[in-house]
Amino acid sequence: MEDFCGEFVGVNLWRTIWKLKIPNKIKNFWWRVCRNGLATKENLFRRKCAQFNTCPICHLEVETIEHLLFFFPWTRAVWFGCSIVFDGVIGRPDLAIKWTAHILDSMSKQTAMNFLSKITFTAWNIWKARNDYVFRKEKVNPMVVMAKANFAQMELSSACVIPSVHMDNQPIADAASSWVAPNISKFKANCDVTFKEGDTNNKVTVVF
Ligand SMILES: [Zn+2]
Repeated sequence: MEDFCGEFVGVNLWRTIWKLKIPNKIKNFWWRVCRNGLATKENLFRRKCAQFNTCPICHLEVETIEHLLFFFPWTRAVWFGCSIVFDGVIGRPDLAIKWTAHILDSMSKQTAMNFLSKITFTAWNIWKARNDYVFRKEKVNPMVVMAKANFAQMELSSACVIPSVHMDNQPIADAASSWVAPNISKFKANCDVTFKEGDTNNKVTVVF
């Protein structure tokens, strides 16, 4: 795996991921995505921990990281809804680690980091929805995943102060739990929303 990673990227890519202004759990998630370290059916099958390597949702293709996060039709709907289209400058995510390196090379540093933050939030919510389907039989719903990804990123960028992160393995506070009081002339509204398929009584909570 070290050779595989070293073929495309050096320490700079990992340093950049750890500097993203996103919760640590999502940095860890993207690090595992880039290292092909998610427990996909393909990886479980290769380690003799699964009987088949096919996608547990469509049953048509091998469940690679790229299939489940980027190319499965329902996930493509999520990306489209989050205004991320796989062509042009950002290219196709045929291999996550190579794609991440390409994004960092093709944009200014700040633009690339903002863009990667959006990508990682979206991918994280797709992965959670996939696991809810596999382990809890909850139907995947692109609209709900899209809304959660957009909301989580909006909430983080508007309400949190993120500490700077270094590659020294020192534990830091989870960014998502950080909050600072607004200036005296401003106020903050902390909100949350719950969706349940087939239930018209969805709930929104706002706390001032
Ligand atoms: Zn599939």
